[in-house]
Amino acid sequence: NWDLILQTFKERYELQDISFNSWIKPIEVYTVENDTITLIMSSTSMNPDMAVSYVEKKYLEMLRITICEIMNHEYDVRLITAKDKQAAEIKKAATGSAAKNSGLQNLNPNYTFDTFVVGTNNNLAHAASLAVAETPGQVYNPLFIYGGVGLGKTHLMQAIAHFIITNDPTRKVLYVTSETFTNELIDSVKNQKNSEFRKKYRNIDVLLIDDIQFIIGKESTQEEFFHTFNALYQDSKQIVISSDRPPKEMETLTERLRTRFEMGLPVDIQIPTYETKRAILKKKVELGGYNIPDDVQDYVATHIKSSIRELEGALTKLSAFATLSHSPITVEFAEETLKDLISPDAKKEVTPELIIQIVADHFGISPADILSSKRSADIVYPRQITMYLCRQMTNVALQGIGKALGNRDHTTIIHGADKIAKEVLVNETTKNTVDILIKKIDPS
Ligand code: ADP
Ligand code: MG
Repeated sequence: NWDLILQTFKERYELQDISFNSWIKPIEVYTVENDTITLIMSSTSMNPDMAVSYVEKKYLEMLRITICEIMNHEYDVRLITAKDKQAAEIKKAATGSAAKNSGLQNLNPNYTFDTFVVGTNNNLAHAASLAVAETPGQVYNPLFIYGGVGLGKTHLMQAIAHFIITNDPTRKVLYVTSETFTNELIDSVKNQKNSEFRKKYRNIDVLLIDDIQFIIGKESTQEEFFHTFNALYQDSKQIVISSDRPPKEMETLTERLRTRFEMGLPVDIQIPTYETKRAILKKKVELGGYNIPDDVQDYVATHIKSSIRELEGALTKLSAFATLSHSPITVEFAEETLKDLISPDAKKEVTPELIIQIVADHFGISPADILSSKRSADIVYPRQITMYLCRQMTNVALQGIGKALGNRDHTTIIHGADKIAKEVLVNETTKNTVDILIKKIDPS
């Protein structure tokens, strides 16, 4: 497959032999982990640091696009030298088990304070998060961060986690979503492993729970979380919680939990102003090595209204489309390419496309995976959930759903949807996941 990628790359970008043989051919695949591919520069004739930094500037984004296309999956691609590799392996050997305990494994390495742009919409949340990261358990406890979708809550929470772990790798930091908390609780009850569950959530220094709104209405999860909260709080362990709304608007949250949430500092993140959006775009362009002119950044900042995730989506889309179609990125090009993202605040209709996108995002796979014919369990399950949700939440006919899901036969859709419909009745974890997805797809 790697040879195919290289060959396609060479032909598509019409590289001369000398360029290809010098810069690209010596690149080998080192690891493929989650969504990150690490490549290694194995050239022996060139200065490795120089070769890596040049290839990063000139070819890496194009290479990434070719890889994603051929693999049919969105990957981050990193390029390292043999020296980096050695250093990484030594470090891994030394910290292998420590890293496992630290909760680092479910953190996005890009979500740090360094990459977070502070603006008038989020400066209070940012200041409070940094204070908590510097002195966990001592200032604002719990820290409660709330705001709409795609505005930076998860980024800030993980920044806190990274900061604490970097400062003191012995600190036990646990970042989870409330969905994970709920599902682990369900599993522990089912398998009579409740003491293990408690150990995991109480023998820590910092607990960060993301998207707590999803435990609303789940009595036993709320109950368990209440006890977890108290145990940590009494020991002055830091608790950080995020939600899409402030505690007082969390109807049907048990009163005693609400009171707990209001004890510390609730801080909100608002929709960014134009200036903040410009600053964020500038930063993303810099970090991502995109080549996007000022007037286009201006256009994007003016027209993308509601979330920073969409701002990022716009950048990726512009740069990918421009590379594929060999067009320069102009304002007209942006208008055309970003039509869907910008269409005036029309209320989001629930369509199979929307469902596919949200389910894929939720499971950390790409929409293309759901449409594909891959049969691995980590894809089949989200795909069947998509079928189920399309039948539950849209009026689209079976044929239409089948078409949207990669031209599948209507009997396949019935089969998949029925499978989940049955599972929801007997499997609490699936039910929990489906509930959460429904709320994500139609928040109203
Ligand atoms: P939420 O959890 O509130 O839904 P996320 O934290 O997932 O939102 O943010 C969505 C995307 O926007 C992420 O990729 C994040 O890095 C980016 N983002 C949000 N706020 C900022 C910011 N202030 N500076 C830089 N990037 C941001
Ligand atoms: Mg989030």
